[in-house]
Amino acid sequence: MSPVLRFAPSPNGHLHLGHACSALLNAELARRMGGRFLVRIEDIDTTRCREDLVEACLGDLAWLGLAWEAPVLRQSTRFPAYRAVAERLEAEGLLYPCFCTRGEIIRATGPLAPRDPDGATLYPGTCRHLEPAEQVRRRDAGEPFALRLDMAKALARFPAPPGWIEGGLPGTGPARHVPADPAAWGDCILIRKEIPASYHLAVVLDDALQGVTHVVRGQDLFAATSVHRLLQQILGLPAPAYWHHPLIAGPDGKKLSKSLASKPLRQYRAVGANPAEIRALAGIDRLLDQSHGDRDSERHREDGKQRR
Ligand code: GLU
Repeated sequence: MSPVLRFAPSPNGHLHLGHACSALLNAELARRMGGRFLVRIEDIDTTRCREDLVEACLGDLAWLGLAWEAPVLRQSTRFPAYRAVAERLEAEGLLYPCFCTRGEIIRATGPLAPRDPDGATLYPGTCRHLEPAEQVRRRDAGEPFALRLDMAKALARFPAPPGWIEGGLPGTGPARHVPADPAAWGDCILIRKEIPASYHLAVVLDDALQGVTHVVRGQDLFAATSVHRLLQQILGLPAPAYWHHPLIAGPDGKKLSKSLASKPLRQYRAVGANPAEIRALAGIDRLLDQSHGDRDSERHREDGKQRR
């Protein structure tokens, strides 16, 4: 099976150096593995994503010298599919409607409430036990609601949440197994109140739809993979391999400052930077040289043996 990799930007701002790093790593790994490289536009957040930013984003990727397959999947065309899956999970009792506002959650939990890996307050479960009649009454009254995963139920049904294979791609260092910890996310939202989708649900369904075999994305999404693996198990979807790359490394291997890493690519372009300089600044060759290091030391050991 030919490897399939994807870069999946959200067009709610211009691409910055960190995005370039992720895109270049995906394309380079696809090349090294003789696989396919896709770009997917993650534009579910219709309040923040803009058409001109989609164009700008694809323009920046082309300027970087990347080529991807057409057509480009846009998540905003997939709302009915996300909704259908959520309805199925709700019918199975794994999702429940939540009418809480953010303010109500904070009032219910207090400032010292436990938090999820992204730092958001863990949902205290207020709506988990609403009577079915009450749910129907509030829905019929037009009260907006999100659909949340009942984590305890999901884990009761799938008691051994599967982990994932991290790394092991050419240049990323050896593969290791990471145990999943979806419980850390509590009853996370799978369908948002204002948008008929969520990042977790859309990414899992679309990676499967597009046959993505290797998910290469920033370290900031490492913890989210626990939820993704649980959803893949619940939905009977295949497990991709993952590599969560260090957020960004400069040519010297040190982490770039946030202001440099989040500087839009267009600003680099405007002052005459070329794609090779961006690649160097993003530290692509350094990020992918780990197994070269191993290979080199192997070779040196072999050379040494031959000399002896
Ligand atoms: N759309 C997400 C972002 O821009 C990336 C999703 C992913 O790679 O899984 O942060």
